[in-house]
Amino acid sequence: MILFENVKVVSFNPPAVSEAMDVLAYGPDEGGAKAGRVAKVGKSLAAEYPEADRVGWGGYLSPGLVCAHTHLYSALARGIDVPIAPSKDFAQILEHLWWRLDMAIDLPILKASALAGCSDALFCGVTSLVDHHASPAAIDGSLSVIREAYEEVGLRGILCYETTDRNGMEGARAGLAENLRFAREIDAARARGGRPLVDGAIGGHAGFTVGDETLAGMADAVRSTGRGLHIHLAEDKFDAVDSRYRHKLDLVERLDRVGALTPKSVIGHGVWLTPSEVEIMNERDVFLAHNARSNMNNGVGYNSLLTKHRNVVLGTDGMNSDMLEEFKFAVFRHRESGGPWWPGDFLVCLDRGNRLMERYFARDFSAGVAAGECAAVPPAGSAFAFGRIEPGCPADLVLWDYDPPTPLTAATLAGHLAYGLSSRSVRSVAVNGRVRIKDRKAQFDSERIQATAREQARRLWNRMEGK
Ligand SMILES: [Zn+2]
Repeated sequence: MILFENVKVVSFNPPAVSEAMDVLAYGPDEGGAKAGRVAKVGKSLAAEYPEADRVGWGGYLSPGLVCAHTHLYSALARGIDVPIAPSKDFAQILEHLWWRLDMAIDLPILKASALAGCSDALFCGVTSLVDHHASPAAIDGSLSVIREAYEEVGLRGILCYETTDRNGMEGARAGLAENLRFAREIDAARARGGRPLVDGAIGGHAGFTVGDETLAGMADAVRSTGRGLHIHLAEDKFDAVDSRYRHKLDLVERLDRVGALTPKSVIGHGVWLTPSEVEIMNERDVFLAHNARSNMNNGVGYNSLLTKHRNVVLGTDGMNSDMLEEFKFAVFRHRESGGPWWPGDFLVCLDRGNRLMERYFARDFSAGVAAGECAAVPPAGSAFAFGRIEPGCPADLVLWDYDPPTPLTAATLAGHLAYGLSSRSVRSVAVNGRVRIKDRKAQFDSERIQATAREQARRLWNRMEGK
């Protein structure tokens, strides 16, 4: 068991900061059905459980952060030293940079990229990462390679392959097949009694690169696997215009007509959706992943309907995995737009990533814990909640070294996140009751991961130039 002593327990939604207390959690192989969950929260647990592994004393303990949309394949693009033609718009950014980069990815590059991105996430206090992957020259087995990286560093997440017609119909079929293969791989792990750290979604690149045949295949895959769709829509205005021109339908309408939108679905960006499309997404209980920094970096515009969405979650879109930085940009860009939301509203969005995790992992955590045993308000039909530090809840935990210059209370928490606390305060991190970062040191070989990433980054950049 692992133990955090004399910590103030933080909740994001509703915001709360407790008195100092102890938190005890089961490791991933302890406690039978209670493995990887919070065991007890209270006073004097240190004296009661002298054999527990003491992870830290003092500070603030919060639930792990969730990044609801990222691209691990972009982890090796940082500072890219390849001549990239100037891009006049988003379509050219894709053509000049990202579609050259993803085409140059092979499986060793992918593994290095995923490991570096997963490691970075843990150092930022992110315990769940939702990835959207593309490597058109190495599709088969790519999601299993990413899963290996997640398991090697001990991170939780949801993976998918971004199915697209942009490399021909054979490429589209291979992308779809990889999503299906991976969903079956996870189903088989569960059938053997496992509780995998990673699940799969059904990925699609974007409305404008997915034709009707491919879309129908993706909708079938959503139905047959019980997973949700994860796709970019209306990141740039072009996508929305193209859908109306070529398909005579709005993007969301087009997906909804084939039944592809379910409560497990994630729409990335949605900057240029219309009010009626937002309404459909809300009716279908779909998540909108807002990526403020990426939208700014690509100059695609601001989502003026953000506050109309029922389920806004925050993602980094591959910028890196720092969700506190993302949270700050989301707040500041919104303030600049003159919108009505305050930091507390974005804290609700940051916390909502946990609802997405619950929809994928409910079956793993519902078994073995009686209703009411976890005090948190659980999703329908289960007895646990992600993002809460209460008995029965998943032990995805972050210990922060933070000595605030002003009182840190329920009322001030969102302000501290927006204007003070940053990932430099992350001291220790546990996922599934397993300590992954302890006193700022990785409990895995992060130096080897970074060194390999630098080697593979150079290979990737050379391959982009045909060397
Ligand atoms: Zn994206």
